[in-house]
Amino acid sequence: MARPGRIKPPMGHDNAWWWEQAAKGVLAIQRCTKCQALRHPPRPMCGECRSMDWDVLAASGKGTVASYTVLYHPQFPGFEYPLIIVLVDLEEGTRITAELSGRTCRARWSMSSSPGWRPKPPASRANPTLARPWPIC
Ligand SMILES: [Zn+2]
Repeated sequence: MARPGRIKPPMGHDNAWWWEQAAKGVLAIQRCTKCQALRHPPRPMCGECRSMDWDVLAASGKGTVASYTVLYHPQFPGFEYPLIIVLVDLEEGTRITAELSGRTCRARWSMSSSPGWRPKPPASRANPTLARPWPIC
C-alpha cells in the first residue's frame, strides 16, 4: 500500500505565483514597489506602507540560520521525522522558514551550491512541494 504524500500547500491568488517560481527552482521574494520592503510569505499588502503594488526578486539563496527547531510531533504524511525547521535570514534582508536536510555542521549555507535549494518533484502535478531544501553540509 502506497504511503500518503504531503498535504497540498494552500495556493491562491496571493501565493500561487511563489509556488510556480519554486517549481522553476527560483527562491522568489516579494518586494513592495513603493517602499522596497521585502516580505515573505507572500501576501497582498505591504506591512510597512500598505501598498498593494509589488514585484519579485530572485533571492541568492545565501543566508544565515537564525534559529531552528526539531519537530517530532505531530507527524504529517509525506515528511520524514524528525524534521529540522530553520529560520533563515536571507542576505537580501528578509526571513524564510524552511525544512533543512543534511547534517547541521555549519550555520552558513548557499542556494547556489549544488544541490542547494530545489523544489521536490511533485508526487502529482496537483501537489507541488519543496523537498528538503538547503542541505548545508
Ligand atoms: Zn511598502
